[in-house]
Amino acid sequence: MLHYFKVSIPLIQEFKTSFGVQYQREAVILRYYDGEIEAFGEMVSDEYPGYSYEFNDAEIIVIKKYLAPILKKTQDPEEFSKLTEHIKGHNMAKAALEMMLYDYISKKEEKPLYKFIGRTKGYADVGISIGISSIDATISTVEKAVNRGYKRIKVKIQKGHDIELLKSLRGKFPNIPLSVDANQDYTLKDLETLKKLDDFNLEYIEQPLGKDDFIGYTKLKKEIQTKICLDESIESPESAIMYIEAGIADIINLKPGRMGGIGNTLKVIDIAKKNSVGLWVGGMLETGIGRSFNISIASLEDVKLPGDTSPNDKYFWKDITMEVFTMENGRIYPFNNPGIGVTIDYPNFIQVMKDGEKIID
Ligand SMILES: [Mg+2]
Repeated sequence: MLHYFKVSIPLIQEFKTSFGVQYQREAVILRYYDGEIEAFGEMVSDEYPGYSYEFNDAEIIVIKKYLAPILKKTQDPEEFSKLTEHIKGHNMAKAALEMMLYDYISKKEEKPLYKFIGRTKGYADVGISIGISSIDATISTVEKAVNRGYKRIKVKIQKGHDIELLKSLRGKFPNIPLSVDANQDYTLKDLETLKKLDDFNLEYIEQPLGKDDFIGYTKLKKEIQTKICLDESIESPESAIMYIEAGIADIINLKPGRMGGIGNTLKVIDIAKKNSVGLWVGGMLETGIGRSFNISIASLEDVKLPGDTSPNDKYFWKDITMEVFTMENGRIYPFNNPGIGVTIDYPNFIQVMKDGEKIID
């Protein structure tokens, strides 16, 4: 039996990026139940196609019409991925189901997901991603994050909110591991600004140009020293190969929910490892369900850089899952219960649920 549920969870604080301001997280949760095992997946698309062309209402159609029928043929995630190859794109929708199947088979084998995947170091190093606000407010958030033990601070930037912000931050925190994420806000017309970023000893600049601006990145790479981390550009193993072989991607922000699932993520990890490309796991304001998948991937031994896999309490007052990830000395540990190891807090879930439907009997 397959259900989808749309939930809308208010954020503690609005999250502003160069795409816009978000006040709530509208997540699509998938639930598969075979009479014994209950497995979950979470789609990382949003209400609005700003981060990617994929958005919730469209992907629900793709799931209902094209992806869910494949579940009747197989419950094996690798097989499922093969059988969905003929459907172009829609990697967020594919990932939601593929990852749900990883939860399902690891529960069937009674292993926690991170042990089922293997190659684990047993924990994830945690960084923080700080949305756009005033310089003073950002300084105070950074101060709290440093005190809380986050291993890397990342601030969102956009045109006109960059150099002054970094001057202030570096003035106050000269030595912290600091990076910036532009969420595609710049073009080569902003080259002079992008070059100035070299002055701030950043770990990397994430996604400065458009996600498909391959030529722009080729040119930018020759002009700046700061490492380039790609996020939105890496939608699949194929795009990872393209940006790695061209020498553009120094670092990749892995998001299994964006890249078609865990199978594709493991492929990207292998390609990156062969080419000495750094890796960390990002987040899409996931609930405890998506967060648990991300933490399992972030705990792989080849994922060496601190990611954006924050504890649950950073974004939501109350999550839809019972178990809460907490951070100890900048580390988060995956749960040891079978699968993703989280259970649904149904009273809270029902409160935030907007919509839902049975897709398969
Ligand atoms: Mg990003």
